[in-house]
Amino acid sequence: MADQMETNDYENGWKVLEELTENGHRIQEQVLEELLMRNAGTEYLSRFLHGQTDKQLFKNNVPIVTYEDIKPCIDRIANGETSNILLADPISEFIQSSGTSGGQPKLIPMTAENFEKKTLELTLVDPIVKRYFDGLEKGKTMSLFFVKKGSETPSGLTVRTLSSCYFMSDSFKKSAPKICTSPIETILCLDHKQSMYCQLLTGLLRRDHVVSISSIFGSVLARSIKFLEDHWNELCSNIRTGYLSDWITDLGCRNAVSLILTRPNPELADTIEHICGNESWEGIIKKLWPEAKYINSVITGTMSQYISLLDFYGGGVPLVSPSYGSSESTFGINLTPLSNPYDVSYTFLPNMAYFEFLPVDKDGGEKAQESDFDGVSSQWSSEITNANGNVGPVDFANVKLGQYYEVVVTTFTGLYRYRVGDVLKLTGFHNNSPQFQFVERRNTVLSIDMDKTSEADLLKAIGNAKRHLEPLGFMLMTFSSYAETSSIPGRYVLFWELKFKESTRCPKLDAKIMEQCCSIVEESLDFTYKSLREANKIAALELRVVKHGTFDALMDFYVSKGASINQYKTPCCIKSEEAVKVLNSGVVEKFFSSKTFFLS
Ligand code: AMP
Repeated sequence: MADQMETNDYENGWKVLEELTENGHRIQEQVLEELLMRNAGTEYLSRFLHGQTDKQLFKNNVPIVTYEDIKPCIDRIANGETSNILLADPISEFIQSSGTSGGQPKLIPMTAENFEKKTLELTLVDPIVKRYFDGLEKGKTMSLFFVKKGSETPSGLTVRTLSSCYFMSDSFKKSAPKICTSPIETILCLDHKQSMYCQLLTGLLRRDHVVSISSIFGSVLARSIKFLEDHWNELCSNIRTGYLSDWITDLGCRNAVSLILTRPNPELADTIEHICGNESWEGIIKKLWPEAKYINSVITGTMSQYISLLDFYGGGVPLVSPSYGSSESTFGINLTPLSNPYDVSYTFLPNMAYFEFLPVDKDGGEKAQESDFDGVSSQWSSEITNANGNVGPVDFANVKLGQYYEVVVTTFTGLYRYRVGDVLKLTGFHNNSPQFQFVERRNTVLSIDMDKTSEADLLKAIGNAKRHLEPLGFMLMTFSSYAETSSIPGRYVLFWELKFKESTRCPKLDAKIMEQCCSIVEESLDFTYKSLREANKIAALELRVVKHGTFDALMDFYVSKGASINQYKTPCCIKSEEAVKVLNSGVVEKFFSSKTFFLS
């Protein structure tokens, strides 16, 4: 009976997906109609629509906005005015996104009804992975999920991250014991160190039942494996003695773990010690969790920097990047979980929101100087005109293969024609729903003089240099960068945390090879960068190698400033002086590019 239920769920899930994607265009029109019927009378939309619900009028009159434009409305609601400023339904709480506005977190309205809709995305991912991996129902996921303490607006509305909201929901609490090896108390523990320790411990105790390993973003999984490197001795000692370390003081964690760590288990401790005691941690995930069929974590966009590391630890366990979404809206899911992690596309779900796509062009030599909303000029140029004009956002039915777009969303929670800030490339269609590859955040750029180096360009350039290191047995664990402009000319500085594949000890770095890595990065950057370098308007690129754990300290720094560990994305480019200080405090060696000629 249980198997029958699962087969039906699985088939139903596929049927829902097929129906949604086949009717993508119609559903999008219906979503817009419904949104307008509900919300045309709000203070915000009345300004542009005067109470009318006509879709064309919406496209002609409602402006395309950024968070900054609607922030005054959000602030009024947060300070106690009615939700009706933005939407007809009452706002149940605010979602805190990982983006900031003027140093403050962005607050995205949420309604009870919409929260249910968002959780639907998760139920749709299930039938997809079940199609590719057998036997998932026979085991559990070793989750590495965390929650963050919420806060309140002056009017008393709760502010939480989307993941906290989900993990604290009754539906997750009910399903967690069936699907996760981590007891719910360990996920809900607000002390991240205790939470991570207990989730790893219970995952090790139940290692034979683990069929998948899951964190929201790849960076969290990478961090957890490093944590395991630092704590496996202690974890094994707990397993050997059957006694949980005293520093786990959270009562929820202690009680929940005590139900699983019920007796001394020296055989299991020996096995784990034997695996972890190996000099090389290549394939550690496969060795520790031999039944794991896949790793479930977002590894596209900035997370792509973790692919080679997770491949190394995974030992052949496939990396699946399940979905693409944000605090503002769910966008799409990955229908081909086994696709190459560098080529993942997400199929947009037409019922999640009303989507428009603003064509953007990547400029060549002459980069656009359009001012971007986080105060940094973007190198993506777009022209926004209304729907009567020529250039402007297009809808689901009019996107073109190969074109780059910035996604603009109209949600059920009071965002109208809102620029999310992500650049996507159209790679195909599933039925009538477009599939997009994530390209980059539009606003993350390094900039000196006329040069604007984007996140995607930097990732690509570092990817080229990284390949130079790999045959020597080194792996780039993670990186960041900043524009050092205190001296003239300024330079780009990269921070790299490296790992030696064969051992936990890192041998001495070869200065010549490291300098070559700097040159490869420079050579891989674009024409503007190279011309400015050659004209000495940008100084030689500098590479600072940091010691093991420095990027953990960076994550801790951002978490202490309010970031959520679940939704933490290692910044490719750092703007905060304090964050640069954290990385500088871990620098062990510095190298400079010795290249001087680029264009001849
Ligand atoms: P947040 O609102 O804090 O959850 O952050 C949402 C942002 O994370 C998105 O706008 C993207 O920039 C990034 N993001 C989310 N999912 C993915 C994904 N699958 N691939 C790449 N970037 C993603």
